[in-house]
Amino acid sequence: MTNEELWQTALNELELAVSKANFMTWFQNTSVADHQDGSVVLNVPNAFAKEWLEHKYHKFILKALRNLAPDVRNVEYAISSELTPLLQKRKRERSILPQEGQLEFKELLVDRETNLNSRYTFDSFIVGPFNELAHAASIAVSKNLGQAYNPLFLYGGVGLGKTHLLQAVGNEIKKSSPRFKVLYTTSERFTSDLVNFMQSNEAPVFKEKYRSYDLLIIDDIQFIAGKIKTQEELFHIFNYLYEAGKQIIFSSDKPPHAINDLEERLKSRFEGGMVADIGQPEYESRLAILKSKSQGKDNYLNQEILEYIASNVQKNVRELEGALNAVVAKSKLSGRALSIPEVKEILDKNTQPKKIVTANHIIKCVAEFYDVNERTLFEKTRKKEIVKPRQVAMYLLREDYSGSYPYIGQRFGGRDHTTAIHAFDKISKELKKNAQLVEEMKRIRELYEYNSSV
Ligand code: ADP
Ligand code: MG
Repeated sequence: MTNEELWQTALNELELAVSKANFMTWFQNTSVADHQDGSVVLNVPNAFAKEWLEHKYHKFILKALRNLAPDVRNVEYAISSELTPLLQKRKRERSILPQEGQLEFKELLVDRETNLNSRYTFDSFIVGPFNELAHAASIAVSKNLGQAYNPLFLYGGVGLGKTHLLQAVGNEIKKSSPRFKVLYTTSERFTSDLVNFMQSNEAPVFKEKYRSYDLLIIDDIQFIAGKIKTQEELFHIFNYLYEAGKQIIFSSDKPPHAINDLEERLKSRFEGGMVADIGQPEYESRLAILKSKSQGKDNYLNQEILEYIASNVQKNVRELEGALNAVVAKSKLSGRALSIPEVKEILDKNTQPKKIVTANHIIKCVAEFYDVNERTLFEKTRKKEIVKPRQVAMYLLREDYSGSYPYIGQRFGGRDHTTAIHAFDKISKELKKNAQLVEEMKRIRELYEYNSSV
């Protein structure tokens, strides 16, 4: 059995052992990297997946593998954004399908050494008033590395093009100065890298590695909030690179001073170069982006349709792209241009205001996410594995359902309203410093949608 067959068969079994939503969340983009002497190495896409697979699903995974290959005694998890050759083949095969094509294709374009995706270039980046400053600063930096603005700090909401711009600088440098060492990473990957080096007692190697770059790009730096050791290491690496005239670029969802639980000395470093924000695109920019993204494709789009989308999808570029892709997919299926009412129907489906979730639904999703029995959430137990999901559920009942504290207390086995207040405050505080919890919340909220459509 090849590694791919082994893992594919194991996945079929695992799919039955865990809930559908969890399976989708945690097992996507995993593969067997190695199988030797009873040891299997699984490739997982990120630190978050690694943590969950290791701690929650290890037993299942080991069992499933053992059933197929009795020699397996041990499973390890390795974070890898690289695709194994077999996975690449699968992706290639899948990418022949329309719609999925774009997404799958994206991943194939990632360079192993720099983590840069060649799709993100200045050429494919549309400039408008909303991102003009960030774009100009990025161009300036790519022309005068380490000289123009150091560091460059870009901030703005999701889907507005931060990652695209950051990577465009990296790609530009790789093109103009191929010998420069460039690394694109996220603050989460930076942290997990640090942890890995520390675990193997190689902290000095970590320092050496990050000191060696001519251009270091760290995306979504807001997630180092509350991580003291990461902040300390970053501070020293920053100073070293800065003194050596090497360029550092950061992005964040908020400006430096608004990042909580971030050391003052780092805040002042972040603010010491150029801070530029990206706002929401106005109508003309939205239309220009749509035109650029639809160019050169036989996709049954016309000016009227593009204008309609530009007027109605306003939040960010990612949603704009999503709406465009949905309309193109539908037109291709019908083999003709869609009418405006048909486009409207697609957009309504895509951008529907959040469904009103019920209390039951929230509780169900939380229980499913943490793999606990719904009923145990209402019991009096103080077991750690129950207390956290219970508090999270209480928090979400308040946030997403606007339940009153007495109601929430009542709902969870007739508890007092102060218990609900305590849970809400605890989780609110925790969310400010715990990126993992933030990520968990995001996933749970994704389940709201996911579960309701099944
Ligand atoms: P962020 O990192 O701010 O969340 P991304 O950089 O991931 O946003 O952008 C989301 C998507 O929108 C990407 O596919 C990106 O290529 C595209 N995009 C964002 N801004 C622009 C732009 N100005 N021109 C063209 N495409 C853009
Ligand atoms: Mg991003």
